[in-house]
Amino acid sequence: MTAYPRLLAPLDLGHVTLPNRVMMGSMHTNLEETGDWNRVAEFYAERARGGVGLMVTGGMAPNREGGVFAGAAGLFTAADIANHQTVTDRVHAAGGLIAMQILHAGRYAYSPECVAPSAIKSPISPFPPHELDEAGIEKQIADIATSAARARAAGYDGIEVMGSEGYFLNQFLVTHTNKRTDRWGGSYDNRMRLPVEVVRRVRAAVGDDFILIYRLSMIDLIPDGSSWDEVVTLAKAVEAAGASILNTGIGWHEARVPTIATSVPRRAFTWVTQKLMGQVAIPVITSNRINSPEVAEAVLADGCADMVSMARPFLADPHFVRKAAAGRAAEIAPCIACNQACLDHTFSGRLTSCLVNPMACHETELRLDPAREPKRIAVVGAGPAGLAAALAADRRGHHVVLFEQDERIGGQLNLACEVPGKEEFHGLIGWFQTMLALSKVDLRLGAEARAADMAGFDEVIIATGVRPRDPGIESDGRAQVISYADLLSGLEEAGPRVAVIGAGGIGFDVAEYLVEAHPSPTLRPADWLKEWGIADPATTRGGLTSPAPEKPARTVTLMQRKPEKPGRGLGKTTGWIHRATLQAKGVEMIGGVTYERIEAAGVRISFGPERENQRLISADTVVVCTGQESERGLADALVEAGVKVHVIGGADIATELDAKRAIDQGTRLAARL
Ligand code: NAP
Ligand code: SF4
Repeated sequence: MTAYPRLLAPLDLGHVTLPNRVMMGSMHTNLEETGDWNRVAEFYAERARGGVGLMVTGGMAPNREGGVFAGAAGLFTAADIANHQTVTDRVHAAGGLIAMQILHAGRYAYSPECVAPSAIKSPISPFPPHELDEAGIEKQIADIATSAARARAAGYDGIEVMGSEGYFLNQFLVTHTNKRTDRWGGSYDNRMRLPVEVVRRVRAAVGDDFILIYRLSMIDLIPDGSSWDEVVTLAKAVEAAGASILNTGIGWHEARVPTIATSVPRRAFTWVTQKLMGQVAIPVITSNRINSPEVAEAVLADGCADMVSMARPFLADPHFVRKAAAGRAAEIAPCIACNQACLDHTFSGRLTSCLVNPMACHETELRLDPAREPKRIAVVGAGPAGLAAALAADRRGHHVVLFEQDERIGGQLNLACEVPGKEEFHGLIGWFQTMLALSKVDLRLGAEARAADMAGFDEVIIATGVRPRDPGIESDGRAQVISYADLLSGLEEAGPRVAVIGAGGIGFDVAEYLVEAHPSPTLRPADWLKEWGIADPATTRGGLTSPAPEKPARTVTLMQRKPEKPGRGLGKTTGWIHRATLQAKGVEMIGGVTYERIEAAGVRISFGPERENQRLISADTVVVCTGQESERGLADALVEAGVKVHVIGGADIATELDAKRAIDQGTRLAARL
């Protein structure tokens, strides 16, 4: 008997039966843009082998003007059909089903050719769109229908029409972006004419025996968004026009409410999809922050949807479903929703991958094949770099001894999971523990490795991490000055007024730790919704109301020397959330400071080369978050003794230290040994 009876139940769509209720949601990986379709095919085939019921590709442009950026992949020509056929053939050979998403970006397109219902520039693209005339609208509909027909010719099992997230079709639906006075604007019947017509024409183009998913924005999270009545009206109209499945979209891209970041509670929005259940006869899919089979099963058991869509979890572990079905859920590499290697890459034009699984989107070039000759490998340090290297080397058949001086594994990950809204890091440490227990790695906790212990190994990997940097600021010795590590690990407690020195990723994390209540709102979904001003779309248009942040737990000042706004170097897709959170809690963020000295009453700072405008930042506690230095004592001793070592992670480069680089570097090294 499986623990996930609903999740693993087949879903009969009439002409085809999906093997389970799990869909891999659409993600733009930038793989198609490499032009290496073998690589694209292998990405999807690996996920098909992992047992997912249905996959949806990244968004494909129906025409040039609809592409997310100039040169975005699409399905325009006969040559494109052949490329896509490589993917569908490989997926079908692996026993999978795959639908292609058709994504018309409208005014979100990063291109001077972009088009929209009205000429209103979006806040997330510098290009004002061209307002379409009647013929222009007809061209867009025809191009989308033609793309759908080409998708069928390329062997796809279906298509998803992207109607949410504020893209083209969504832009027609709301008065926020549609100011037209012709038959495509004005009344709701007119505003929904385009999406409904698109579905009708697509269905006519592909025939009845083809999956047609419509992704519908169920809560826009923007001013003047759709009302719930409009959402239901559209759902019914889209069903009548020929959709076979409705998928859920949550929030427009321009919404100032987080919808998928790690600080968003798990399944935070499934209650929205649930409101649509019973209103239509076709299956309904829910999504957003569902990252384990337990959560997915609970969503279905609660009647929130007929099927669950997960996207990033399939980057973290392509074999999610197969492992769940085999009773091995603890072995599923967890998506921690960090966005660091996926969306942050996608939105900076880089190839997508995954922090916990660097093989994602690198299936053809980063492989952990059995080693020709098993070696004895010592790994020193069980932080993310050492753990990744040890497990990857073990998987290849090497004999690995992993030394860790602490009594527990995880290194800096143990600090990260103490930060409010970063609780998912607990799952990552738990996964490393499970995988170590299942491996042959000889883990030696509480073992401080010395140079002499390295004798007899064929390879020595040093992953000894970092120590907090002492910025050497003058102090009269009377203030409580602590490091971020002592604070987050619970060794020290901060007073009611805190000055944080250093506003990098950890300075921001520390500030959040200091102002948030514990447990954090991420673990209290109802309170989290209130903090961000998310309401029932049935009571307020777009589901948006006034945010009601909780009272800050402390008064915090966050400082840096760089004369710019603190937080500019944070993650591309998540930095704004950290900045907004601290703003809402009244944290003063100051750039361009010179630290004069630390006094009993706080931190004395000044500004500019003349060290003007001296000011005392009153504080009971000063927390130092000024970066790290590599811990290389053992590495240096070994090198001096003539031993060849591989230095990885923070021990290699302390600046820009992060788990993404550490895990990637450890895995790639082990793949070469
Ligand atoms: P960091 O990003 O390098 O920031 C260090 C901070 O200390 C900067 O604000 C720097 O700014 C200041 N600083 C450096 N040397 C100083 C000195 N001698 N005196 C005074 N101030 C000094 O390091 P981190 O915050 O420790 O983060 C480490 C890494 O962890 C990051 O690179 C990041 O990849 C990762 N991380 C990311 C996140 C996230 O994105 N949310 C969260 C946590 C950790 P000034 O030089 O301008 O003063
Ligand atoms: Fe999930 Fe982070 Fe991997 Fe993206 S990079 S798939 S958010 S774990």
